[in-house]
Amino acid sequence: MTENLNPFAIAQAQLDMAAGILQLDPDMHAFLRQPMREFHFSIPVRMDDGHVQTFRAFRVQYNDARGPAKGGIRFHPDETIDTVRALAAWMTWKTAVSDVPLGGGKGGVVCNPRNMSAGELERLSRGYMRAVARFIGPERDVPAPDVGTTPQIMAWMLDEYEVINGHHEPGVITGKPLMLGGSAGRTPATAMGGMVTIREAAKLLGMTLNGATAAIQGYGNVGSYAHRLAHDLFGLKVVAVSDEFGAIYNANGLDPAAVGNQMRRTGKVSGLPDSEEIGNAQLLELPVDILIPAAIENQLTGANADRIQAKIVAELANGPTTPEADQIFRQKGIYTIPDFLCNAGGVSVSYFEMVQNTYGYYWTDEVVQERLDQKMTTAFHAVHNMAEAQGVETRMAAYLVAVNRVAEAVRARGWV
Ligand code: NAD
Repeated sequence: MTENLNPFAIAQAQLDMAAGILQLDPDMHAFLRQPMREFHFSIPVRMDDGHVQTFRAFRVQYNDARGPAKGGIRFHPDETIDTVRALAAWMTWKTAVSDVPLGGGKGGVVCNPRNMSAGELERLSRGYMRAVARFIGPERDVPAPDVGTTPQIMAWMLDEYEVINGHHEPGVITGKPLMLGGSAGRTPATAMGGMVTIREAAKLLGMTLNGATAAIQGYGNVGSYAHRLAHDLFGLKVVAVSDEFGAIYNANGLDPAAVGNQMRRTGKVSGLPDSEEIGNAQLLELPVDILIPAAIENQLTGANADRIQAKIVAELANGPTTPEADQIFRQKGIYTIPDFLCNAGGVSVSYFEMVQNTYGYYWTDEVVQERLDQKMTTAFHAVHNMAEAQGVETRMAAYLVAVNRVAEAVRARGWV
């Protein structure tokens, strides 16, 4: 039987397993299986050549029992409503596991930002905000960047929202540039949070990080910072990195500054002097200590899981591992740091950004780092303790912690 790779079907299957273990009330289970609200838009955008192109776009508010919905906006050619639903569900579990007073949401636009001019991107970003503005706000739903979107895009969206509403409202969106009310430490926060979980996992497994090897898939915001931080903080030897165009390898470790320069010059990691070109699939199967997927969903599946040799899989990407691969990893004794725990650093600092926007008083980078470390360490151990107590693997333990917290809020509100 071929594996079902629909991300929302996967998200629902994961919830179903957790509901079974928790013996969740069937009415609660049915409620948590579906998004509470979703919006579908058509956004007309005047392109540089004069014609008007219509883009499909979505916003899903999966669950806001614990607080305003929170989640990024993706600009990606393969975006579908089911991907957005799955990511919104995972945001719900992520904000719960990291115990920030927020719910889960996600947005997406079907477009290829690489083929659009800055002017076209600005008009699309403003068009998205015009479509969604009446449904979001600091007390309702707060977007942020994700795949294909940047602090500049957040700035255009913030400006459009404030023009529509006629007053400043920096807390409507996070991941903003610093001068518009962004938080210190937001851009590297997802990777930084992942490093905290890797540090804690290594302690549990008795792994020395200095000199240990790693491979990173994806070299965008998350992957490039993961490379730099793994190298600088732990002395990890990152032997391979990749992007959508290809992968490179050097047994002695790749220098993050050199790969960064290569990216700036050519827009790709491949072609770096003193590195060997390898296949994207090969990167995942290298005999490294730590594998860090930091690209897109469904990269570790039933088709390649038995060839994965890493001891730790640190899922900085959302949904990189399918349930079939999970099962194989369990048999092989691979330690997974599940996505909505591993990559919760981004939403934690987004939450810090909202708090700072509310007060209009801004923290230093040191304060942000200290609080981020505290949040991630606490979340990691809540999941680890649950795994020990219930005898389940880490992804299921993260679900148990998160679903319990969301269900409790839903129950307290009297919704179910
Ligand atoms: P990004 O758009 O900045 O980068 C994505 C990278 O993945 C690019 O380098 C791209 O070339 C690469 N890529 C795409 N397809 C690939 C493939 N098949 N093989 C190898 N590389 C491929 O996005 P990002 O913000 O770095 O997000 C990466 C992942 O992290 C996503 O799953 C995202 O949902 C997740 N995430 C991001 C944040 C955040 O704060 N940015 C927070 C939590 C989770």
